Amino acid sequence: MVSSGMGAKRGILIRKGEAIQTMKEIKTIVFDKTGTLTKGKPEVTDVKSFDKSINEKELLNLSANLEKLSEHPIAKAIVNKADLKSYKKVNGFKVLRGRGVEGKIGKDMITIGNQTLMKERKIDLGNFVKSVEKLEEDGKTTMMVAEGKKILGVIAVADSVKEDSKEAIRRLNKAGYRTVMITGDNERTAKAIAKQVGIKEVIANVLPEYKAKKVEELQKNGMVAFVGDGINDAPALKQSNVGIAMGTGTDIAIEAGDIVLAKGSLEGVVQSINLSKATFRKIKQNLFWAFAYNVIAIPLAVAGVLHPVIAEVAMALSSVTVVTNANLLRRKKI
Ligand code: ADP
Ligand code: MG
Repeated sequence: MVSSGMGAKRGILIRKGEAIQTMKEIKTIVFDKTGTLTKGKPEVTDVKSFDKSINEKELLNLSANLEKLSEHPIAKAIVNKADLKSYKKVNGFKVLRGRGVEGKIGKDMITIGNQTLMKERKIDLGNFVKSVEKLEEDGKTTMMVAEGKKILGVIAVADSVKEDSKEAIRRLNKAGYRTVMITGDNERTAKAIAKQVGIKEVIANVLPEYKAKKVEELQKNGMVAFVGDGINDAPALKQSNVGIAMGTGTDIAIEAGDIVLAKGSLEGVVQSINLSKATFRKIKQNLFWAFAYNVIAIPLAVAGVLHPVIAEVAMALSSVTVVTNANLLRRKKI
């Protein structure tokens, strides 16, 4: 109780008491990228046309017509940047989870998405791939835009890293935890962001349904905590030994988390571990005190050495000691 109260004061909501006990056994901490390590508010940074038939503004507007129909943060970034007054009709719109979107405007099939999607649709980037990769090496997420099988251009968005992500990862690395980033984004972008925050292990191009599977694989090497915010993180939050959800994230993720970080700051991950360790030390001390009085006093009372009143005082003292000791936890810096 003391420990969950301390957590609550720091914006760490412990939804399952067990989590605070499991947390100290964790070996690996897996982080979702978008919305967890980064702010999750991508903004369009580059629009490049690869085809003479279309200029940058037209490319952005064309994309906005489709992205208007998607809920993805990337889609919102494109729609905001284009800032259209009215939208064209899109037929047969489809969300291709973790890859992009497609639909028909007039008789042209428009596909917007990552390189995986372009490969699936057999849309060749040709020499433009270099220009795309350059954007990705800068940590930007790229969306190719194609009309039929013809590549029209690329739109890049950047999502900045949260101010305190770097410090939290530094402390976890220093304490000897294995830190891993997992994302649906491409490898180059993911690595660039990982480098910014200090994570060395990156699992990229993971489709939403496979995040939990990856966590399961990591669990072969010890207990895993998963930190995430999105709808697609919910299965991984459940699969992990301790699921830590960002309070700033989706309701579904929060519902799936054992611990919720109300402020959405990764500092809370470090604090949860420290709180877990401190709490467990207290539990052990308290067990000692609760038993010590009884182990010593009961035989003495039975033997008639202890006056019954003293035995009663000892009984009460054991409870007082335990409660006082538990409350001393509040003094602990976490
Ligand atoms: P994350 O794990 O980073 O939240 P997602 O699994 O949601 O990422 O998406 C993975 C990738 O699929 C994105 O980085 C983007 O390239 C592409 N993508 C997803 N949704 C869209 C969309 N609405 N429009 C264009 N591309 C998209
Ligand atoms: Mg996310």
